[in-house]
This record gives sequence, C-alpha cells and structure tokens, in this order.
Amino acid sequence: MRILITNDDGIYSPGIAALAKVASRFGEVRIVAPDVEQSSMGHAVTHSRPLSYRTSPISFEGLDAYRVNGTPADCVAIGTHLWSQTDVVLSGINMGPNLGNSMWHSGTLAAAKQAVLLGIKGIALSTPVGKTEPDFDRLAPYVEEALTLLLATPGLALYNVNFPENPTGIRWTRQSVRLYDGTVVPGVDPLGRKHYWFTVTPLEPAEEGTDRWAVENNFVSITPLRLDLTDEEALKGKE
Ligand code: MN
Repeated sequence: MRILITNDDGIYSPGIAALAKVASRFGEVRIVAPDVEQSSMGHAVTHSRPLSYRTSPISFEGLDAYRVNGTPADCVAIGTHLWSQTDVVLSGINMGPNLGNSMWHSGTLAAAKQAVLLGIKGIALSTPVGKTEPDFDRLAPYVEEALTLLLATPGLALYNVNFPENPTGIRWTRQSVRLYDGTVVPGVDPLGRKHYWFTVTPLEPAEEGTDRWAVENNFVSITPLRLDLTDEEALKGKE
C-alpha cells in the first residue's frame, strides 16, 4: 500500500513524524509537506506561481520526505502526481483539534479532501494541544487502531479523526454544527496601535454523538464526511 503523508503544520511538526512512524507499519510511506506552517489555510491552492519540490532537511527514519513551498492541497496534488498509484493520503497529526465548524478552515482536512477530489481515500488526523505538546507515544496505539479500521475499508472515502489527550476508546461521530467558535479579539500592539486577533473560544457542552462530544469525553472521534454540500431538504420539491 502506498501511503502519502502531509499536514498543514509544516514538515518540521512533531505530529507528522509521529504519524509517519505508525503509518510505516501499514505500507510504503512518502512524506510531502509544506515547508512552513499553513494552518487554517483551508483548501487553498497555488496557481499564480510555480511550486518547488525539494528533499526534506530532516530525516524521517529513512522514509522519503519532501517539502513544498505551497499549501496542504498543493502537496497532495504534486505528491500524488509524482507518486503514481497512491492508495491513501493521511494528513496530520495536526497540532490542534479539527472539530465541528472548525473543519471549514482546516488545512489538515483540506489535504484529505484534495485526495478525494483526485479519486484517492483521504484521512485527516488531529489532536488538541494543551500547555505542553501532545504525547504522541501515548496516542500511537490509537492511531494504529484507527488506521487499521479505516485502511481496511474499501472504496473512496473521506474521514476526519480527532484524538483526545488521553483516549479510552473510539467512537463513530457526526459533525457538531450547533455553534461557531471563531471570535475576533481586539488588542493593542507594543506601539499602542489597535489590532485584532481571530481566535477560537471553546464551546461546551457539545451534543452527544458529535465529534466535539467524543473528544470532550476522551474518545477518539471518527467522522465519515462527504464532499457533496447539497442541502437535500431544501432541494425537495424544487427540481
Ligand atoms: Mn495545523
């Protein structure tokens, strides 16, 4: 199995190394990731300038690794173009959750979506970051369990996986769409000038059975997603 790995935190993120380590038990792994952080860039692609594809300056225990001066979606487009018959694209492990409405901004999820647009299975993986960086060794058995489950499922599919800090099990979930957690916070820079920080405020509690609920209750959340955004209810009777 050919497994292309990317992320939106950039090639230096410890999350991508942790994912590559587990994924290499499942098949042949190649890493193609942005050369700088591209978090919250969503599904942006670069079309106004050429992109480079260079060997990674850091080693991933002997795995092929490349850095691209573009977005996560660019990495998937180039990565799969240069590596024929890629079976699956894994994106992550993101340093920060991608739950509920934050999926709309996620570069991590966009990379998995880009794979599906190209006819390849896509799986996004994320975990919250607290005061310290995530303990990827603690998450590793759950990453392996999730990949075992999702790689064995045949067909084209898109999955969004989120790991809590201390997982106790895995739950299939739906996306929480109740509220939006983006907030503009005003501030002042060191020269006294006004500025604004677009940030995330935690929402609680989440509805049972949703992705946010699962992670709040220490379960690994797996949400199957689709690219068709059509509102079927609104369409009824209008065709
Ligand atoms: Mn990120």
